[in-house]
Amino acid sequence: MKRIIGAMLALILCLGMSLPALAADNSAVDAKIQVLEQTYNITVQYEKDPDGSASIGTGTLHILQHVLEQITPDVVRQVSAFVKEKTGRNLTYSFVYKDHYNFGLPSSVEAHGVFYEELGLIEILLPSSSAGTYSSGDNPLAIAHEFGHALEWVVRSRYGNRLMAEWQDFNGGASYSAFDGRGSYDPTTFVSLYATSSYSEDFAETFAHAVVRDKAGLGFYNLLVQNGVKTPLGKKVDYLISLLPQCLNNTQGLTAQLQKVYTTPIYVEFQNQRLSGAYLQYMGYAYPRYVLRGIMSSPEINEEIATSQWSTEIGGWYVVSTTGNHYLVFPGGVVRRQAASLQIAA
Ligand SMILES: [Zn+2]
Repeated sequence: MKRIIGAMLALILCLGMSLPALAADNSAVDAKIQVLEQTYNITVQYEKDPDGSASIGTGTLHILQHVLEQITPDVVRQVSAFVKEKTGRNLTYSFVYKDHYNFGLPSSVEAHGVFYEELGLIEILLPSSSAGTYSSGDNPLAIAHEFGHALEWVVRSRYGNRLMAEWQDFNGGASYSAFDGRGSYDPTTFVSLYATSSYSEDFAETFAHAVVRDKAGLGFYNLLVQNGVKTPLGKKVDYLISLLPQCLNNTQGLTAQLQKVYTTPIYVEFQNQRLSGAYLQYMGYAYPRYVLRGIMSSPEINEEIATSQWSTEIGGWYVVSTTGNHYLVFPGGVVRRQAASLQIAA
């Protein structure tokens, strides 16, 4: 792995020396941003590298577009209009180089995004270093999660503060507690560990998972109904679905999207192996810039990578380590070790 990095650095240095005057060309990114801004009435910004090139590629914008499509243009435009009414500017997605250190969080907590209500601003965080950065905010879950905060603001304003009490009643006495990236939770009450941290994170997480996890292998219907009875999580999803038409217009598209949680399969059978988490969060090609460099230090993998290959069929990278282990690495940071090798066409 070190040799590969060395070669990459040498290549970058050569390019840097031979092409010093070449200006960064962000025209493809800017053109795509223009389309998104017009379609959704939002603002999209990005930080630049020292050489002037955009911190994101069109792949990241493709992910953003896909998520906003799921939420539907009608709903995005209404939320953005509400934000503009309150803050004077459109709902803004800003892609910036920041990580958990910028927020004083412990290393066990990965921050992927932030919503600043007073500014109507969503920051999607891109790690600025290449070490250990196989996980960043430019994935559908983070993008949908931060939108969920803006949506919650609209819904709370129009439905009233009873929203919080009614939502928390579904938890059946389970209380929220400070998030430290560790611990366990009841998955029939909370959709993720992070959802256990507060009412607003619970709302944003429930919304984001229901929007994004709509492909085979990503479902969680088993956590919504058990023995024919709706679980607390199922009640929260239903409540969310019922709230939307009370607070926004033309919500049928988004409602239909959210209702897929009751039918999306949990597993995919692939070459006689059961894969879960397939298709997780992948919509573009934002991640290969990190993963395919072979830099992948993570709690799950501490091995040198022999080969890594993107598989559209799986929606993840198939990785073989130098010690002969097989992994599926899904964008967003989920790593699964497979019992046996898979035949992935080159
Ligand atoms: Zn949040």
